[in-house]
Amino acid sequence: MTDLTRASAAELADLLARGEASAVEVTQAHLERTAAVDDQVHAYLHVDNEGALATARDIDQRRAAGEELHVLAGVPIAVKDVMATKGLPTTCGSRILEGWVPPYDATVVRKIREAGMPILGKVNMDEFAMGSSTEHSAFGPTHNPWDLERIPGGSGGGSSAVVASFQAPLATGTDTGGSIRQPAAVTGTVGTKPTYGGVSRYGLVALASSLDQAGPCARTVLDTALLHSVMAGHDPMDSTSINAPVPAVVEAARRADVKGMRIGIVKELSGEGFQPGVRARFEEAVGRLVDLGAETVEVSCPHFDYALAAYYLILPSEASSNLAKFDAMRYGLRVAPEGVLDPSAEQVMAASRDAGFGDEVKRRIILGTYALSSGYYDAYYGSAQKVRTLIARDFAAAYEQADVLVSPTAPTTAFKMGEKLDDPMAMYLNDIATIPANLAGVPGMSVPTGLADEDGLPAGMQILAPAMQDERLYAVGAALERELTKDWGGPLLAKAPQLTEKGA
Ligand code: GLN
Repeated sequence: MTDLTRASAAELADLLARGEASAVEVTQAHLERTAAVDDQVHAYLHVDNEGALATARDIDQRRAAGEELHVLAGVPIAVKDVMATKGLPTTCGSRILEGWVPPYDATVVRKIREAGMPILGKVNMDEFAMGSSTEHSAFGPTHNPWDLERIPGGSGGGSSAVVASFQAPLATGTDTGGSIRQPAAVTGTVGTKPTYGGVSRYGLVALASSLDQAGPCARTVLDTALLHSVMAGHDPMDSTSINAPVPAVVEAARRADVKGMRIGIVKELSGEGFQPGVRARFEEAVGRLVDLGAETVEVSCPHFDYALAAYYLILPSEASSNLAKFDAMRYGLRVAPEGVLDPSAEQVMAASRDAGFGDEVKRRIILGTYALSSGYYDAYYGSAQKVRTLIARDFAAAYEQADVLVSPTAPTTAFKMGEKLDDPMAMYLNDIATIPANLAGVPGMSVPTGLADEDGLPAGMQILAPAMQDERLYAVGAALERELTKDWGGPLLAKAPQLTEKGA
């Protein structure tokens, strides 16, 4: 293998196990790639050269000593900046957390360290995971490696871009309304939102606690499954964590079998509003699954039409409550109000929150505070919760007819930077297809379907399964990937324009 950064995580794991590459070489290759291209992509907020190489050296020594290691030991990873990392800055894309170095690891980060995976650094995101383009990061946007003038999706644009630009084979993400799946779709990568409660939320900066779920981002379905199984599992530190065995996602990805599977096409998510090329690639992908022996059935989920409205009441309500803890008293930014000699605690809080939060975060805090206020609570928050129940019932009915549901992941290919920045509603509409899964807690994946417009940009298919049946996503995703990779004559990302390497 000449370029270790082009290998998948599974391939790297094999090379490491056979002694054909060392963890230090693999880690070094990715750090060099970052030094050469990240000034164009801006996926990273913080690169940890020393820490990553220290882990790699430790793994190489332990392997040399004959210790039995995790399959991904020595395979490096990038971590979304929403996850607490002991000793490494964690900003959540916000000025209000600038300079905060957590004294503890999130459970998923602990699991990654225990597996012996070098952490390359922390990757960019929309502030507090609010957005679909990563343009709401307080530290500047991330660029889509397919076209640097375009967005890499959001909120996890750092995670999608870092794998799409070969700076890391794997990245962690979080998905509250689509932040793993939509970035995957617009960068030609793969991402999964596991069943709610499947992966611990302990140590994740909370956006909307009843919707948030962490999950894996990668370039292949198998790699996504390998990381999924590292991240998942019961955690007593998270009261919503499911105490059940982790779904057999790696086995499902390896089997990649869809024979006899009933694929439900969601009527409400396949019609108008989706770019023609995105729909065409989606329909072809469904055709390939039928070629492989799956059956299709059209299902109707009538309440999905209200999902976006319900989400934009529930999310801001929960977010306004979660973000109340950023009060400048315990950690993070503290700003003295201008021209006040002896400011009160309230004045310091107000000045710090004004300086520390960006516009989108303020917009949602105001919305949420309003929706939760007495007199409006029943009309807004209460109604949204009822819609949520109706959406869960739509899913339950659909899963009587189908084993998985499918739709295009995002309505369009990657849009141009700035195009939707001043139009919150246009930004929110990117998640029209992904939000229902978060409201119902069911798992979802996005897998590439091909190039979908005249600019040669990728699109994705969303696969949804019933709660706790995450392995079905991997069976369908891997089967589709295998067929389409044959059609394309190789991985889709091989068709992306090459980034110029600095100094090359
Ligand atoms: N784009 C959606 C939002 O802005 C989803 C965010 C997410 O999944 N974290 O809320």
